[in-house]
This record gives sequence, structure tokens and C-alpha cells, in this order.
Amino acid sequence: MESFFIQHPLFRQISQLVTEQNKEAYIIGGYVRDYFLKRQSKDIDIVVLGDGIQLAKKLAEQLPGSDFAYFKNFGTAMVKTADYEIEFVGARKESYNHHSRKPKVEPGTLDDDLLRRDFTINALAINLSAGHFGELLDPFNGLHDLHNKIIRTPGNPEITYSDDPLRMMRAIRFATQLNFIIEEQSLLAIKTEKERIGIVSKERITDELNKIILSPKPSVGFKLLFDTGLLALIFPELNKLYGVENVNGKSHKDNFYHTLEVLDNISEHTDNLWLRWAALLHDIAKPATKRYDVEQGWTFHGHEDKGSRMVPHIFRQLKLPLNEKMKYVQKLVLLHLRPIVLAKETVTDSAVRRLLFEAGDDIDDLMMLCQADITTKNEYKKIRYRNNFNLVKTKLKEVEEKDRIRNWQPPVTGELIMKTFGISPGKNVGIIKDFVRESILDGHIGNNYEEAYQLMLRKGHELGLHPC
Ligand code: ATP
Ligand code: MG
Repeated sequence: MESFFIQHPLFRQISQLVTEQNKEAYIIGGYVRDYFLKRQSKDIDIVVLGDGIQLAKKLAEQLPGSDFAYFKNFGTAMVKTADYEIEFVGARKESYNHHSRKPKVEPGTLDDDLLRRDFTINALAINLSAGHFGELLDPFNGLHDLHNKIIRTPGNPEITYSDDPLRMMRAIRFATQLNFIIEEQSLLAIKTEKERIGIVSKERITDELNKIILSPKPSVGFKLLFDTGLLALIFPELNKLYGVENVNGKSHKDNFYHTLEVLDNISEHTDNLWLRWAALLHDIAKPATKRYDVEQGWTFHGHEDKGSRMVPHIFRQLKLPLNEKMKYVQKLVLLHLRPIVLAKETVTDSAVRRLLFEAGDDIDDLMMLCQADITTKNEYKKIRYRNNFNLVKTKLKEVEEKDRIRNWQPPVTGELIMKTFGISPGKNVGIIKDFVRESILDGHIGNNYEEAYQLMLRKGHELGLHPC
């Protein structure tokens, strides 16, 4: 058996306690995997043969400032330090029934415990017991699969996935995060067992989706989800983007692969989960708005508007937050064409001002999304778009410095209007307020109190109102 030295003094300390209490304990799962992959990990799982709660309690006493919690019914305990979250669990054996991914659990041996793990690379254990410190247990050749970058289930993959279908999502998520290949039989089994995903809660599925989205190259995961048939079940709107239609020899681009390219592009520049979601959803309404026109060919008029309106339904279905994060995604989907439209036309100050006003503080994210959206293979077009785009960027900066429109509140407020004309809330207040704001955005008057005030008086006069 190979022997490894676990560097951190914490493990010596735990091992000491294991010896004192005459138990057996093993570091297991994700931490061991990540240790060999040289990835930082703050979650440490420890399997104990015997009472893990006593062990954890002693450890917590020796670590000043740590938190200790335990769940007697489950025989698990947690010790939390500034750097680590260490979970102690008794070795267990699991048996599944068909309707739930929650197994019946009973105490088991270390072998039972390793056998219930999802993948060979997650079934490695390092011994912390007296006389065996640092020894690796690798019953399923997980180290071999780690080196060869392979995701493989320890037992029959169909049974593994059918028992707990969340493992299908986990397989694809690990393949994406780690840039691993899912072994052939295992991949086939996902295709066969895909319908079983129906017994997994939306929250757990979305957790895995978010981890895929936050991976270095998220398209890897979405292609696997698509190819296995899982995507159609968990996220039908995205699945619908796939495909190319051809009429009279004219076809449009495949919006699924285009979307994935945009998502990969943006992922090179940001770790913001919600900006990545905006990239994933920016063209979501293309299937619903697709038309063929003899003169124009394929069009997707209004897909940005419809797409933005589809976001709440999708977020609700996926149990994503229905708060300002969702609003942010909606806003970016709605505005995603604006910078590029600007870039194609002559860039006027007023168009730029309007964009700045509508995007507010999210203007930089919007520009990033828009830049990521340029996926044309035509080098000439690409260069032209890029150049125009840079022009828009320069113009944005100029206008922002001059007019300070970002997060701007128009100088004439509803209150001022009501006070000036001695009127109560009503239609006229809105008319005057909008008129003044639009005049500033269009550049008919300057962005200052004096000019706005004068315009307010003029507009009031037109409506038959008089200052009091
Ligand atoms: P990460 O923490 O990056 O999500 P992880 O592998 O540590 O990855 P956890 O959910 O923390 O994942 O689980 C810890 C360990 O528990 C795993 O390494 C694996 O051995 C086991 N495990 C977790 N979920 C399952 C599951 N659904 N089926 C079988 N074993 C699982
Ligand atoms: Mg973990």
C-alpha cells in the first residue's frame, strides 16, 4: 500500500485523539480527491468507526475559537475553524427504495461506506488510525482514474444512478469542473436512467447547474446535459434553442451552440454567477420569436423583450432567487442588443445617454455580455464589430464624464412639480416629469436644474397650469 504524508498538523492532532480514544478514522471523499488534484478545499469529511461525536468534541476543545455542533440522531458532528469545516460521520451502509433518493441508513464497515460513494475518485480514504497514519485506501482504483481524468462509478452505473439520480448531475458537474471524461458505460447509463431525475428536488438540480455554470468552461457540462437527454427534462427552454431550420436554402445559426459559446466567452472574464446566467438566457426567446421572411430571411424580432419576460418563469421553475438578482438578469437580457445596435449605427450622444440611463450601474456588465455575444466566424465582420464596439465604449466614457447619467435622477422631481403648480398627484405630474427627462436624454436641453426648471414651467403652461 502506498503511503502519503498529510501535511497539515490538524491531521496529526486528530490522529492523536483517534489513538487515545481507541478508534479508527479516515479522511474521505472530496478532500482526498482535491488533495491529489492539488485543489484547495476547506471541507474535510472524516469517517469514524465508533463514536464520532466524542472525537469531534475533544478536537473542538483543543482548537480555541472553533465551533462545535452535533446531531445525535445521525451520529454526525461538525467542528468549524477559521480555515476548515470538519465533519465527522460514522461509517454507514445504505439501501435504497425506488421512490426516494434518500436511502435507509445503518451503521456499516469502512468498505460499506466506500461502496456507497458515487465515483471512484470520491471513494479514496486516508487512514488516521494509530500505526497507519497517512496510508491510502483505494479499493476502486480511484487514483488511477484521477490521473487519467475519468469519472467512473464504483459499481454498476445503472444501479448507481437509479439509486440516487442526483449522481447523474454530479457526474456531469465533476466532468465540467475538473475537465474529466465520463467513462463510456457510465455515460450510457445516464442516457438510460435520465428519467429518474424526476425524483430529485429542483433545488439540488439547480445547485449542480450553478456549479456547472461557475466552472471554467461551462459549455462542457451543457453539451453533456444535452447529449444525455437530461437537459430536455430539467431545462426545456434551453434545450429548445438547439437546431437549425432551412427554408429556400437559407438557414439560421444554431442558437444552442451559439449560447454556449457566449457563456464560455463571458466566463473568461467574470465569475459573477448572475452575469453568466444572463449569457445563458440572452437568446432564450429566439425559438418563440423565430419567423421566416422572404426578404429578410430569418428574424427573431423582440426576442430580447420576450426573453426578459420569460426569466421569472424560468427562475421560479428552477427555484432560483426571485429578487434583485433576477431583475438584474432580466435587465441584461432586455438590453443585450442595445450596445451592438449602437455599434452598427452612427453613435449619437443621445443614444448613448439613453443606454447609460437604462443600464445604470450595470452598464459595464452589459458591455461585457454584448462583447461576448460576438461569435461570428467571419473575420471581416468580427473586426468591424469590434472596432464599432470600441467606439461605443469610448463614447460611453465621454458622455458619462460630461453628463453623469449613470444612476442619474432627473433634476425635476414629482414633488417639485406638485409644489410649483400647487397640484396633487395625477396624470399631469407624470407628463411633465417624463417630458423633462426625455428632453435631457435626447439632448434638447442640458442636464442641469436651471434648464430643467424652465422647461417644466413651459410644459406646465402648455397644460394650462400656473405656478402658485
Ligand atoms: P464538492 O464539495 O466540490 O461539491 P464533494 O465530492 O466533496 O465535492 P460533497 O457533496 O461534499 O461532494 O460530498 C462529499 C463526499 O460524499 C463525496 O466526495 C462522495 O464521496 C460522497 N457523496 C456525496 N454525494 C453523494 C451522492 N449523491 N452519492 C454518493 N456519494 C456521495
Ligand atoms: Mg465537499
